[in-house]
Amino acid sequence: MSISSYASNRLTNQNISTFSGSEARRSQNTSTAFSYASDRLISQNISSPSVSEVSPSLELISLPQLSSNLEQPLIDYNAAEIVVDGIPVSINRGFLAENNSFFREIFKKDGSPSYLLSNLLPFGKVGYEAFQFFLRYFYTGELNPPPLEVSTCVDEECAHETCRPAIDFTVDLMYASSIFNLPELVVHFQGRLVNFADKAYVEDVIPILLAAFHCQSDELLNQCVDRIARSDLDSISIEKELPYEFSKRIELSRKMPTLHEKAIRKAIRKIHKALDWDDIELVELFLRESNVTLDDANYLHYAVAHCDSEVVHKLLHLCFTDVNRRNSQGYTPLHIAAMRREPSIIVFLLEKGACASDLTFDGRRPLSICRRLTSIKNYNAKTEQGQLTNKDRLCIDILEREMRRNPMADDASITSQDAVNGTFDLNL
Ligand SMILES: [Zn+2]
Repeated sequence: MSISSYASNRLTNQNISTFSGSEARRSQNTSTAFSYASDRLISQNISSPSVSEVSPSLELISLPQLSSNLEQPLIDYNAAEIVVDGIPVSINRGFLAENNSFFREIFKKDGSPSYLLSNLLPFGKVGYEAFQFFLRYFYTGELNPPPLEVSTCVDEECAHETCRPAIDFTVDLMYASSIFNLPELVVHFQGRLVNFADKAYVEDVIPILLAAFHCQSDELLNQCVDRIARSDLDSISIEKELPYEFSKRIELSRKMPTLHEKAIRKAIRKIHKALDWDDIELVELFLRESNVTLDDANYLHYAVAHCDSEVVHKLLHLCFTDVNRRNSQGYTPLHIAAMRREPSIIVFLLEKGACASDLTFDGRRPLSICRRLTSIKNYNAKTEQGQLTNKDRLCIDILEREMRRNPMADDASITSQDAVNGTFDLNL
């Protein structure tokens, strides 16, 4: 059985529903793994003494033995730590060096007692839980179920099959597999991302495409490009989010715009550029010299997605427009603000009459968009002042309050805390 199918079976066979985030952490007690690791080290030290240990009696060593010792990397085998997301993680440097080429090269170059993981990665990111997941794999050869607190969202109605935390955690694992030179796991997690790329909301395919690009997974990359090209994701978002070569590929694979459409797009891009510069006077100048209107340019959607909250504030006070106008994807500015999760912009829009109960064409409200983007860990994350008022949670709280206030809301009684506690009840 290949490692990837073994890993896949392990994941399938474990009862994930009874495996909470905290239990996952407890189960990651690596005492057994470390004793296994130290056993390995002891036997390795007996059979292959370090250079410092043998240097006083080099002349006594036969030529084949000397040759063998010279090939050993000059690595300080003492314990060290790698800081991930600000949290120090103890590692057994000797075990990692012996069993993984990526860490062997790092430790050969730098024998310091502490490393920042973000400084070691050539691309992408690997979060704390993903790093712990890999340490466990290195020490035991086993793949644990993903920790629920980072791989599930706070929407009680979500099956967590394609929500953003599930995707983000798998993307982290894909980056780690590729960077740590573990091809069997690259194949495994690439398979999971292929599944996500087919079923996820198109906005959530973008981080998968970027991971496929950096990890050189051509099949996955082509799948993501095709999926985005077939979608109604607007060309502005594609240009903003993707490297030029992919936005160009997607543009060329779509229907060619007419000359008139090209002229409109050009004028709209100039307006968006002026918004990027926070120059409202320039926006007004461009509007006067072109045939497009502010609404044609979906300027509010653009500002909500990409501009500073103060620009949104100014626009809402300067211009008279329908704050609930839908773009070509059926999103209102509030849907876009929920995707961005910037509390001040959500508040500005609600104050101007944005409707929190409007559904997207595929049936999502701003609140459910926010909930499905937010992991349990991020929902419960404390600020530096130790308060539960982080931006993700604040956005959800604001929209939950608005939904309770709105008599049209049919899930006003549901809170994200219910989802976290697992106490969701429609009759509450
Ligand atoms: Zn979910």
